[in-house]
Amino acid sequence: MDFSLVELTRDQQIFQRTVRALLDEVVTDEVHEHERATGDGISVPVHLALGRHGWVMPEWPVEDGGAGLDPVCRRILELELARYQVPRIGLGTTRLVWAAVERFGSRELRERLGPGVADGSVRFCLGYSEPDGGSDIAAARVRAVRDGDHWIVNGSKLWTTGAQCCQYSFVITRTDPDLPKHKGLTMFLVPLDLPGVEIQPIMTYGGERTNAVFFGDVRVSDDQRLGEVNDGWTVLRGPLDKEHSLGPGRDVLEDLSSLRQYLRPLETALDVAVAWARDSTKPDGSGPLADAAVLERLGRAATEIELAVCTPGPLGRVKIGDVMIEQSAQLMDLVGTEALISAGADGALGHEGDIDFTHRFAQGTTIYGGTVEVFRNIIAQHDLHLPRASFPGAKVVI
Ligand SMILES: Cc1cc2nc3c(=O)[nH]c(=O)nc-3n(C[C@H](O)[C@H](O)[C@H](O)COP(=O)(O)OP(=O)(O)OC[C@H]3O[C@@H](n4cnc5c(N)ncnc54)[C@H](O)[C@@H]3O)c2cc1C
Repeated sequence: MDFSLVELTRDQQIFQRTVRALLDEVVTDEVHEHERATGDGISVPVHLALGRHGWVMPEWPVEDGGAGLDPVCRRILELELARYQVPRIGLGTTRLVWAAVERFGSRELRERLGPGVADGSVRFCLGYSEPDGGSDIAAARVRAVRDGDHWIVNGSKLWTTGAQCCQYSFVITRTDPDLPKHKGLTMFLVPLDLPGVEIQPIMTYGGERTNAVFFGDVRVSDDQRLGEVNDGWTVLRGPLDKEHSLGPGRDVLEDLSSLRQYLRPLETALDVAVAWARDSTKPDGSGPLADAAVLERLGRAATEIELAVCTPGPLGRVKIGDVMIEQSAQLMDLVGTEALISAGADGALGHEGDIDFTHRFAQGTTIYGGTVEVFRNIIAQHDLHLPRASFPGAKVVI
């Protein structure tokens, strides 16, 4: 692994300043307040502003609506978006889905949607999980039945994050219930403004908004299909592998594993705990820093965060979830009751009751994008080359 610093050229430094200037302008206090109030996970005004600069799809050529950025400038952009804490789940899901549209969508579909993806007006969310299970995506039950040049879609998806801010959901449907589980599936890009689509919000304990999405006799044009009928699993594998940090080589400048950005609240919470340790005093006049155990615990949190950042692939995803849960609880325990005060209340620590927020937010980070238990199975199979797990009650497929 190469940890050496990347020396920025003059042009790259200018680019960094340009990104910061735009983000100074568009990532306002209102953007953060809106995110705190709604948990949308996407800021539409910021997304559109990125689109105006070609930064939604920054590697695309300028004539296609991108910015033709080299990998270093792309990395600069991502790091600045993270530093400004831009809510950008929708950016990630849109890019993820576009890769499948590009590979499996018809030319007409690509030409129709590409410009909107680039300028930010077309956004995609992920419609995989269902009420009966999210880990086993191939068990999808949402039904699509052919009706001439349309499909009639019925059923419900759960946890479709960002649906309220997106134009299309990347939906896995069952088109042939008689075929083996992975074979009777077909992928569609379902327009979320069609009659029969209903989006119901679900707020999580961590303050995020996700959704249940219901499909009642929704007529989806066959143009919106990706890949062949009953071959949806082939279409889905690319985006799934990407989310699972698997598959062909990642760009060396990319985060080492998925969900890296979810560590950022913990990094902020640690800064807040360090400030608390430095600035607060006990009734006897001594401060927490006089206590070696406090130093040890703060140091341990910093070390664990670094370990999580530096652990690649599926192992990194598991480490990130584990560190989020354990270290946010440690910081709560260390700082005590002050850490429990939520954003907006008197006495909240940091800018936004950061430790309380991180502790609540951490709980979901072992679930989305695939649970850590499922990732442990992936590690066993892909890294240790062990056989597929067999559970009591699991169907035996011969
Ligand atoms: C905030 C949030 C946002 C989300 N956003 C999206 C989204 O945008 N789109 C989307 O499609 N989904 C989304 N999800 C769904 C998420 O991917 C699923 O919740 C997750 O995959 C687990 O599915 P499940 O909740 O149905 O649990 P289940 O699959 O029912 O699992 C229940 C428990 O059993 C364990 N388990 C299941 N199978 C195995 C196995 N094979 N080996 C070991 N343990 C196993 C799980 O780890 C879990 O602890 C989101 C979830 C949350 C909480």
